[in-house]
Amino acid sequence: MTARVLVVDDIIANVRLLEARLTAEYFEVLTAFSGYEALELLSRERVDVVLLDVMMPGIDGFETARRIKANAKTQHVPIIMVTALDQASDRIQGLQAGADDFLRKPVDDVALLTRVKNVVRLKSLNDEMMSRAATSQQLGLGGQPFAHWAEAGSSGRILLVEDHPRAGQRMVEALSKSYRVDVEPNPQAALLRTADVAYDLMIVSLSLQGADGLRLCSQVRSLDRIRHMPLIILIDEGEQARLLRGLDMGVNDYLNRPVDNNELVARVRTQITRKRYSDFLRNRIEESVEMAITDGLTGLYNRRYMETHLATLVAHAQETGRPLSLLIADIDHFKRVNDTHGHDAGDTVLREFATRFRRNTRGIDMACRLGGEEFVIIMPETELRRAFQIGERLRAAIASETFRVNPETELRMTASVGVATLEFASDTSATLYKRADNALYAAKREGRNRVIADAA
Ligand code: GH3
Ligand code: MG
Ligand code: MG
Repeated sequence: MTARVLVVDDIIANVRLLEARLTAEYFEVLTAFSGYEALELLSRERVDVVLLDVMMPGIDGFETARRIKANAKTQHVPIIMVTALDQASDRIQGLQAGADDFLRKPVDDVALLTRVKNVVRLKSLNDEMMSRAATSQQLGLGGQPFAHWAEAGSSGRILLVEDHPRAGQRMVEALSKSYRVDVEPNPQAALLRTADVAYDLMIVSLSLQGADGLRLCSQVRSLDRIRHMPLIILIDEGEQARLLRGLDMGVNDYLNRPVDNNELVARVRTQITRKRYSDFLRNRIEESVEMAITDGLTGLYNRRYMETHLATLVAHAQETGRPLSLLIADIDHFKRVNDTHGHDAGDTVLREFATRFRRNTRGIDMACRLGGEEFVIIMPETELRRAFQIGERLRAAIASETFRVNPETELRMTASVGVATLEFASDTSATLYKRADNALYAAKREGRNRVIADAA
């Protein structure tokens, strides 16, 4: 979906100029010629970012921004204030009114696209966060209230790579109200510091004496540990070529020198918020992958994962002629635990069983819960005789120690185990599984609390 930009300016020529540039970059552009018109449009159209002129008749840009941010329906729409070149006071007022970033007139192309892309990216993450928050509320999962996330960019740790003491000091002063800032003049030392401290953002000067700030940026982007860290570069006016190279290699944003403190604060906040949102969403994806392959009660792999993996391991063992064994364990008379002590006691037994089960597997083995009180270990590089020994050790680990299901109750449990190994060229995961299951059935029949190896 292309981002929709609302351009608001009372001077038609300004609107047309921004409209033309943004359309050339495939943004969808809406226009308004006054604050009122902008508010009216925002109340009925989806907008991803507002470019807002300050000086307008009627309500000015500040008041328009305040009203956008005061309305629950539009408060998450980012606002970029378009201010006159040297009106620092405009930018202070703009921040107070809720502006997310600034552009100076006359608007420069690189600045325009960088600002718009950054806030649009943030907006789309923000939308995703909100839709997830809504879903988890509907599902009754609770979670952090979204208000908490609105403050996500207002704190954090920053590493400032700058060797000009006075310039560094000024930025530290501007940022230290909300952030913890470390200053490091040497890029290589800066890289080392990222190993000790989890910084939320790095600001890199491109005018370091005898060192190349861009090289540091490219190193950050190529190191797994920190490649997601937001990067802002400090650049002298007129260094367009290096700026473009920086943006090309994944630098997120830039500030021209002399640094305007309000722009600094706005950009830092945007970048840290974006990082927090994307870290959160990335972790959620990892969590849901985790949930898809593991069993919620015991943390062991689940049946679906076991089935896929077993097929792959069997095929590999068949190709290479290496041994592979399978063990199935089933708790004896488990139903009685539920019937006598309740379902929670049953769950406690299952968890403790899983712990002992896991303790008796090696790193290359795969321990799974098939469901109910049935468990499997897949053992690559393992002959039947060895698999039988592992089964026996597991059986003993269950039978020799009681299971405590509550402070007053300890239960004696036993398990029956069947093992089988790959033997024939025609063996598949299904035949291997079937033989182990037959062996387990024989163990049950012959009195439980025993291990039987399939003799095909
Ligand atoms: P056998 O020695 O023949 O294996 O007898 P058993 O009682 O262990 O086997 P059966 O298959 O008859 O009963 C298994 C019970 O496990 C029935 C089911 O209610 C219970 N069960 C299955 N999944 C869970 C679970 O996640 N938690 C609890 N607490 N019980 C479960
Ligand atoms: Mg059982
Ligand atoms: Mg059973």
